Amino acid sequence: MEEKKYLVEVSNLQKYFKVGSNAILKAVDGLSFRIRAGETLGLVGESGCGKSTTGKVLVKLHEPTGGQVLFEGQDIFQLKGKEQKAFTRKAQMIFQDPYASLNPRMTVGDIIAEGIDIHHLYTGKEREEVIQELLRKVGLNSEHASRFPHEFSGGQRQRVGIARALSIEPKFIVCDEPISALDVSIQAQVINLLIQLQQDLGLTYLFIAHDLSMVKHISDRVGVMYLGTLVELSTSGELYQKPLHPYTQALMSAVPVANPKKERSRQRILLEGDVPSPINPKPGCRFKGRCKYACDKCDEMPEFREAAPGHFVACHMV
Ligand code: SF4
Repeated sequence: MEEKKYLVEVSNLQKYFKVGSNAILKAVDGLSFRIRAGETLGLVGESGCGKSTTGKVLVKLHEPTGGQVLFEGQDIFQLKGKEQKAFTRKAQMIFQDPYASLNPRMTVGDIIAEGIDIHHLYTGKEREEVIQELLRKVGLNSEHASRFPHEFSGGQRQRVGIARALSIEPKFIVCDEPISALDVSIQAQVINLLIQLQQDLGLTYLFIAHDLSMVKHISDRVGVMYLGTLVELSTSGELYQKPLHPYTQALMSAVPVANPKKERSRQRILLEGDVPSPINPKPGCRFKGRCKYACDKCDEMPEFREAAPGHFVACHMV
């Protein structure tokens, strides 16, 4: 079978923020990964690890400090005019808090059609038909178009957010913790909707989350971030079966197992120490302060290398 092409290629991405007069917060620091067309790449890590900032850079909501992001082989930060406009149609984002991201004074129909209007895609009856079709696609009804966001549940509002992202027929969607604000009972429904839409429309996702069990369900591959860098990247199956990095092993040990017997014998690895600050981080492995295997060698930053086919890790001990 022919290998799918990469839609998104990120090399040595950096995004720094100035804090106060002389401190630098390194939210993203030397990140490299690629996403194939039609694939879902999950990105996990504790809050503050830089995963949301990465997603925002990929849809150009943030300018990077350094590095490169290619989309269909083009550097997105060099795009101008028509090419830039075309990119804004191809790459969309779904946000964590569906209520905060929807204008409370607009009807759901107008919210969904915002992109259609900006890009002058459809008007009049055709515009109404497209809105109806989008509502249907995300599991809502046609009469929902005339209602306002406050009349919907959290899960329904996230469906509106998804319909809005789909309205301009994107190829790539950054899903930034799209289920974190939802009840557990609703989370699986939204995940299943995203999977169905991907199959129907050939979408490519970057799926950002801290819930590891949901990430496993939707992702082909998963990257684990720690303090602005990737520490491990592998197929979803392999990462959950055989995590190599001490940080990934600790994260995985916290995931409940469906099998009651295995669940009873599950051993949790408790991480010691607090997540260090990304402001002026110390040189060397960022995980050193919390790693039980740390040694002198870890004062040097480990290389992110391929430890097994398609399985990358940054640790001196692997
Ligand atoms: Fe731990 Fe050292 Fe590996 Fe970092 S490089 S994860 S400190 S063993």
